[in-house]
Amino acid sequence: MHPQEAQATKAIVDRCNKCGLCTSACPVYRQVLIEAANPRGRIQLVKNYLEGNIPLTKRFREIILTCLLCENCMVNCPSGVRHDQVFNVLRAELVATYGLDWKKRLIFRLLTDEKLLRSSLVFARLGRNWLLEKFAKEMRIGNIPAGRLPLVNPRPFRDRFNEVIRPDGEAQGRVFYFTGCFTNYFAEDVGKAVVNVLRKLQVEIEIPAAQDCCGIAAILSGEGDLPLKNVQRNVSTLSRSRADAVLVDCATCGAAFRKEYPDLLSRKGLDASQAEVLKGKTRDVMEYVAERLAALPLPVNYAGEKIRVTYHDPCHLVRAQGVSDAPRKILRALPQVEYVEMEEANTCCGGGGSFQFDYPEVSKGITEKKIGRIRATGARVVVTGCPGCRLTIGGNMGERDSIAVLHPLQLLDMALSGDDFTKLPFALPGRL
Ligand code: SF4
Ligand code: SF4
Repeated sequence: MHPQEAQATKAIVDRCNKCGLCTSACPVYRQVLIEAANPRGRIQLVKNYLEGNIPLTKRFREIILTCLLCENCMVNCPSGVRHDQVFNVLRAELVATYGLDWKKRLIFRLLTDEKLLRSSLVFARLGRNWLLEKFAKEMRIGNIPAGRLPLVNPRPFRDRFNEVIRPDGEAQGRVFYFTGCFTNYFAEDVGKAVVNVLRKLQVEIEIPAAQDCCGIAAILSGEGDLPLKNVQRNVSTLSRSRADAVLVDCATCGAAFRKEYPDLLSRKGLDASQAEVLKGKTRDVMEYVAERLAALPLPVNYAGEKIRVTYHDPCHLVRAQGVSDAPRKILRALPQVEYVEMEEANTCCGGGGSFQFDYPEVSKGITEKKIGRIRATGARVVVTGCPGCRLTIGGNMGERDSIAVLHPLQLLDMALSGDDFTKLPFALPGRL
């Protein structure tokens, strides 16, 4: 660790007065009930490491990595301890000491090479179907049965459109739409809903061809060098002055642009000024749409039955970006929807990116609590603005759950078409 970084991290951990107010906020601690696994324990371990009292053992590594990076500890800390910064620095230190698991290195290599990613997903599409036919019942990835994994789009979403989609009339705004890998390769339904809604707002949409995976999975794993090329290319493409806003439909990509990019570039001693421009322009698409709801032709005389819907707050949206009102404003405006809050809507779903695959037992307990809270609302649809959460929640639903898992803009898009939601095919359990 660079001495300056060590000094800055030490200054953060020194703020901890061991009050313990973060402990009950930690979903991992609530699941495993071990002091070392709670935020206070982790902060004290890091403090002792920085003071030279303990080495970076494998057990230490395990404790630091058994964390969802959900930031719930941080928002509950009265002393302003920045757990996110401490954990990021320690993860980088762990990668420097122990290296990165080969499977993760392979995945990050794929994600940071758009051409390779594109061609490998053609094989993944064929392979997934073949594997499902052969082993559908037995195969699981972490806790998720293979049959619940999302299908690969028939072709990448971005290939469906011209780079610029112009409105019929005078443009009411100009945006870049960063689709992220998930919409581009797995969730074309979400992408189509985003484009449909923005078109109805008379917005000129540019879907830049020169966009890469945001790289946040590698960054948060402590591997900051591999995704650096992606970061710099995205910054240079998306910070251009041509658009008023950069819209994302993925909480994690938004967190990358608004939080991780400037931090990473500064940590590497690189120029972060353009990343700050991108940070200022990035909006979750739900924020952008919620501010313009009045301009949308929602049905006014809908007299049909309503469908009950609940919303899950992704950690990367509610805490990393402070977005929680916009999705609720959209959902409450839909005449076909009876919106109900679930208990602890902003508690992590237990996915935590690769956490659910690295620690499936801990993850499963946390996810089951989330799904129990969703069931308790009686909702037929749970919506959330993060593909990772949709994967975790949908993938862990029971066989008999008739709860669809969607992005809020998919419901808005349907509402704008005046659809009777009760007749829509929501019966598939955990449909993504
Ligand atoms: S809430 Fe903050 S000050 Fe209190 S124990 Fe947790 S990290 Fe330390
Ligand atoms: S980030 Fe979340 S999982 Fe990690 S220590 Fe804080 S509250 Fe616990």
